[in-house]
Amino acid sequence: MPDLREHLQELFGLDDFRPSQLGVIEDVLVAKDVLCVMPTGAGKSLCYQLPTAVQGGLTIVVSPLISLMADQVQQMRDEGLPAIFLNSSQTAAQQREVMDELRQGFEGLLYVAPERFSSGNFLANLESLKPKLFAIDEAHCISQWGHDFRPEYSQLGDVRLKLGSPPTIALTATATDDVRADIIHRLALREPSVVVTGFDRTNLAYESHRVAKVAEKDRLLIDTLKKDLSSGIVYCSTRKAVDEITTMLSENLGDRPVFAYHAGMDQAARASNQERFMTAPRSIAVATNAFGMGINKPDIRFVIHYNIPGTLEAYYQEAGRAGRDGQLARCIILFSFQDKFTHEFFISKIDSDGNLEHDVREKLKKRASDKLELMIKYAQTHRCRRQMILDYFGDEAEVTNCQCDICRHGEPASAGGETVLPDEVVTLVRQLLSAVARLRGRFGVGVVAEVLAGARNDKTTRWQLDELTVFGLLKQHSIKRIIAMLHRLIESGLARQRDPERNFRPIIELTAAGVAVMKGEQNPPAPLADLLPRNAAPSRPRSEKRSGDDLADAHLDPETLARFERLRSVRLDLARTRQLPPYCICHDRTLKLIAQYVPRDVETLEQIKGMGPHKVKMYGEQILQALNGETSE
Ligand code: ADP
Ligand code: MG
Repeated sequence: MPDLREHLQELFGLDDFRPSQLGVIEDVLVAKDVLCVMPTGAGKSLCYQLPTAVQGGLTIVVSPLISLMADQVQQMRDEGLPAIFLNSSQTAAQQREVMDELRQGFEGLLYVAPERFSSGNFLANLESLKPKLFAIDEAHCISQWGHDFRPEYSQLGDVRLKLGSPPTIALTATATDDVRADIIHRLALREPSVVVTGFDRTNLAYESHRVAKVAEKDRLLIDTLKKDLSSGIVYCSTRKAVDEITTMLSENLGDRPVFAYHAGMDQAARASNQERFMTAPRSIAVATNAFGMGINKPDIRFVIHYNIPGTLEAYYQEAGRAGRDGQLARCIILFSFQDKFTHEFFISKIDSDGNLEHDVREKLKKRASDKLELMIKYAQTHRCRRQMILDYFGDEAEVTNCQCDICRHGEPASAGGETVLPDEVVTLVRQLLSAVARLRGRFGVGVVAEVLAGARNDKTTRWQLDELTVFGLLKQHSIKRIIAMLHRLIESGLARQRDPERNFRPIIELTAAGVAVMKGEQNPPAPLADLLPRNAAPSRPRSEKRSGDDLADAHLDPETLARFERLRSVRLDLARTRQLPPYCICHDRTLKLIAQYVPRDVETLEQIKGMGPHKVKMYGEQILQALNGETSE
């Protein structure tokens, strides 16, 4: 292997590799396929640029960033690396010139926009090229499950074949397990080495403010921007919102430079606004998600989401544009339930003209709703936000010294003063907690629920639980509903599950916060406000109409619920032996699906959303055992 560090210093003038760049580059140089997942700003480009310089030959780089291509190419030429590009911004003559150069055996980097691949002419020419490396930047665009699917990307698998399946590197900043698997599958990578590095951006301070009214959002936004005079981005989910907020901010922030950016503006206006945002001090960009990919402004001090994005992937990517210089930066969400409805509307419009098959469309919609739900969970969580992001992306890092609002205050930031929970909810939470306390960590969620519901059965009578004061305390509710409520307490940090006997029968017990709430020293956290669903009045426990988070729980029949509980304990065990948060093994939602479908073998298990081949390989056996344990009990 050549001395790569020397090349790095000579060619790029950089001192040393960043963690994991070296490993990726070495893999590329021995012609291995690589999937490289690193956060924005980590230095992914180097992973194909340096190998090109070292091994010579042609490298084809696919990138959707047409507007940046000319710059990238110029940069490479400045470093002394031959580079050319091909995209729709060029005249026919310019494109012909590039094709000629290619035919004459050009060696170096060829940047191509994916839309070129739909030209039959270009494709025909491709077959004569023998690239030494095929690099696909922003590779998540290939996956329909990703947050940024580009139809032009879907042909890349074929293109790769036409090129004679050269060694390939796919690069992205955001890819969850399913998207990763999809990228590998669609490009037909051969036993790729998958390099995933640190998603932990320690200098980002995450915050979320829940507001009841749009007017509150505006007030909060203006307040924040009056106090924070640095430069940053305000993301909105529609073009209309961008225009309105731009006007509102211009009117309220004096001479502060505020620039709008969305795909409905003409190209020239967009380019000029982007340029002014990059250079003007204290500037604010108000934008849709069309803005930002590839924007290299290191000192963005805040990214405020006026509307939540539809997925945590999109959020992480957009928020991640803050603080690329490593200095403290804020990532703020202004959340109102209206945003959820907007996204639900978008989701309902997925493939509304019916191009896809029914099943595919429904699957896409289901995925989108699941991802939205998780995004909303993030906005309302009572856990460390940074940790939640890391867990979601499968990063095993343990967060320390966090600056998120939860870690600083122990409570999500609240815009309009304390959220006041209805009295009956506060009472209900205390009743649930006191039952957990009374059973003193000896029983699981199921028994606690049976006691509260006043179910006289083998267990409750054998242990004389029917003599407890809490027995039947919530008998107006079904056991199912009580179990769902107990899980809500766990999610909001008032109770936790443990499996002290390591027998897959986790017990439930109070946390310190739970004790404080039970004693009335502290109010229950705001997200529990909808613990009592509006349309499931206690007097009609049987006709549960569900709402909110415990939807899925309410759906499960007792047998399924029992399977779900068993799967949860297996997951807990798996998580513990691997020292991972349970999240990383798989999500509750996946466990619920497994509990519902009861797959009998690994093949069927693999069909379940959230269980990629990798997960099946790692955990499939234990999961199937837990399911089959059912019959032998
Ligand atoms: P990504 O594509 O992962 O978002 P880039 O490839 O655009 O990141 O690189 C981001 C910045 O980091 C660039 O300015 C690049 O020059 C710089 N960079 C990359 N590798 C190194 C390194 N080893 N040492 C210092 N700077 C680096
Ligand atoms: Mg990049």
